[in-house]
Amino acid sequence: MSEKFKLLSNGRLLALPATLAVLDPATEQVIAEVPDCTAELLDTTVRAAQAAFAGWSTTPLPDRAARLQALARRIGEHADELAALLTREQGKPLAMARAEVLGCVHWCRSFAAMALPVAERTDAAGIRWVTQRVPLGVVAAIAPWNFPLSLAVWKLAPALLAGNTVIVKPSPFTPLATLRLGELAADLFPPGVLNVLSGGDALGPMLTAHPGIAKVAFTGSTATGRRVMASAAPTLKHLTLELGGNDAAIVMPDVDVAKVARRLFMGAFLNSGQVCIAAKRIFVHDSIYAAFAAAFVAAARAAPMGPGHQEGVLLGPVQNRPQYERVKDLIAATRDAGHRFLTGGEVPEGPGYFIPPTVVDNPPDDARVVVEEPFGPIVPLLRFSDVDEVVRRANDSEFGLGGSVWSADVGRARAIAGRLQAGTVWINNVHLLDPQSPFAGRKQSGIGAENGIEGLLEFTAIQTLVG
Ligand code: NAD
Repeated sequence: MSEKFKLLSNGRLLALPATLAVLDPATEQVIAEVPDCTAELLDTTVRAAQAAFAGWSTTPLPDRAARLQALARRIGEHADELAALLTREQGKPLAMARAEVLGCVHWCRSFAAMALPVAERTDAAGIRWVTQRVPLGVVAAIAPWNFPLSLAVWKLAPALLAGNTVIVKPSPFTPLATLRLGELAADLFPPGVLNVLSGGDALGPMLTAHPGIAKVAFTGSTATGRRVMASAAPTLKHLTLELGGNDAAIVMPDVDVAKVARRLFMGAFLNSGQVCIAAKRIFVHDSIYAAFAAAFVAAARAAPMGPGHQEGVLLGPVQNRPQYERVKDLIAATRDAGHRFLTGGEVPEGPGYFIPPTVVDNPPDDARVVVEEPFGPIVPLLRFSDVDEVVRRANDSEFGLGGSVWSADVGRARAIAGRLQAGTVWINNVHLLDPQSPFAGRKQSGIGAENGIEGLLEFTAIQTLVG
């Protein structure tokens, strides 16, 4: 039987006559019904959030921080339940869903400990100049389906701390854990301060175009990011866009091949490749290519795939049917182009959107699997022989989200890392993110930053008081 969820609008938990079905990607069965927010309810919610802004923006920052701490506690107390929901709707293994939930607790706590900077000086004429940061108004926080809960919390925590009111919109594919978060938070904030609205494809564009929204904080694909930017233009909304990536990993000849192959296997296939900062183009030095490929393929063949709630599973299904079809199409195009699979390349019949990890053997740089962001369990291994060449090839992308360099010579790896046109580059690591450090895409991977004080300031406007 499918469960019914409620959305949070102006402090009230509401079921609506119109609902959307949510599927378990491991079984393709309907597991829940969620409210399909109407234009009228969106309008009412925006007005309530605007009304709540007056009180919340003038609530002292330590009091706002205390509410965020209370939210962190509440999420922590319900970690098992939220993780189970995430696994059911998203497909990821339970241990990873739990890590996502605990990450939300850590993020809320870290933002609750931050302060907004104030700069003061008195000039030669004795005039006092004070520059402070003030909240913007109502923030729309739009999240994708790969890390539904953490990417919502990355937005709502700093937005609320800074004194904004928030409307969170999860992806229609993965709204459950986020709606449950809304229920859990309902009594922690004054009505209208935090709202969670679920809806179909029409809701996002209605939200980004709504004149009552001051800022859109968006994570999703680059294609949608362009639409969000266009839709925000008529009312000049503030924007943060965290978009797609096609991260290069550069493996130098001096590495421990077996160890790095195992690390990069998870770097590429964690969450079944549905990670914006997954290693999506793995450049391996010619002299170790064969050994690295063998170890990488061995890791792929040893990785248990299945429903996320099953003990020991490392790879879950792809999250939704359109993405499953896109990845299958990319596999077919790769085969049709005559490129060789080192493993994978065959997709079993359903039920469930399962695609075995697929590794492509040194396709040309203009192959679709190299140029596009696959966002699924397929990755190309690419040979290189010299550093200038690999840096040029790694930078030859419209994306600039992340990247990694692997070498026993950390100094050399750092020097290469600095030459990559990417917002975050890991040295002998991958995927590591921290609420204290900004995460920002370059080129068409985004605008602005999340996390760190820089991420917090994105939810504020500058106000200078003179005299
Ligand atoms: P998507 O762009 O399809 O959807 C993201 C969200 O936007 C969803 O909530 C969706 O309902 C909503 N949306 C869709 N159309 C909209 C519109 N016109 N106006 C406003 N909202 C709209 O992305 P997705 O498929 O859910 O996620 C996968 C993409 O997200 C990948 O490209 C991935 O790299 C990217 N991503 C980026 C980061 C990052 O931090 N840079 C993190 C995770 C995922």
